[in-house]
Amino acid sequence: MSKYSAPTDLIDDDFDIIEDDYFIEDDYEAGACLNEGELLLATRDLCKEYRQVMNKLQILNNVNLRIYSGEITALIGPSGSGKSTLLHILGLLDTPTSGQIIISDMDVSKLPERSRTSLRNSCIGFVYQFHHLLPEFSALENVSLPLIIAGEKTKYAEEKAEDMLDQLGLSHRLKHRPATLSGGEQQRVAIARALINDPYLLFADEPTGNLDPETSEEVFEILLKQVRDRGIGALIATHNMELAGKMDRILEVKSGRVLAY
Ligand code: ADP
Repeated sequence: MSKYSAPTDLIDDDFDIIEDDYFIEDDYEAGACLNEGELLLATRDLCKEYRQVMNKLQILNNVNLRIYSGEITALIGPSGSGKSTLLHILGLLDTPTSGQIIISDMDVSKLPERSRTSLRNSCIGFVYQFHHLLPEFSALENVSLPLIIAGEKTKYAEEKAEDMLDQLGLSHRLKHRPATLSGGEQQRVAIARALINDPYLLFADEPTGNLDPETSEEVFEILLKQVRDRGIGALIATHNMELAGKMDRILEVKSGRVLAY
């Protein structure tokens, strides 16, 4: 199914990994291995609680959701309802208190940190509300860095990054550092960085929340086009119901549950 799969002999019957290595198939191309409607990720009774001195905060309560290829899902809910918490857990940036995150038939929430990092870098793209670009590096360097970290040669990484930035309408800003880019351009670079490794899952946490309405819509359209062209599965948090309406379906976080809207 995917470019990234665990050899089955490394997995025991309960989906627990008994060794912490994976292999990446050589012939993977963006979207090439994805059939539309393929189940990419499922959660099973996902819970997250934060313990405080006197009490515990139950943020996510038995969340069961599925993400399919070729489908863009909006994640809505009031501020503080747990959207970022959920996205960070699904993006393997945080761990659940209990429950499972199933990718390629295994519970990846239980993976050792090294494997989680490897899986995150190769299969998952993440766009934050704030761009989080490295200030000392140019747009081209920021976008090529994930490929270089993944072991690609600098020349190849920069060529691919240039192509990606071109697709996002930024071929005239390759050498610019983040501080010399507009808010909309910064987010487009952040989108390019999230997609450069050809992930099959994309999570975005209010990716245009800091932009003015016109720029927000423009950047959002670019993001949706990139996701659709690649056929990947995406979960995108937004406060903006108009933007949510452009996606294929809407999930709402409410009292710790995630429900169809
Ligand atoms: P949203 O993205 O929907 O605005 P968040 O996921 O950021 O919501 O936060 C959900 C709730 O979890 C909030 O009440 C927040 O204060 C709480 N929270 C987030 N991180 C922590 C933490 N590390 N410790 C305690 N509470 C936290």
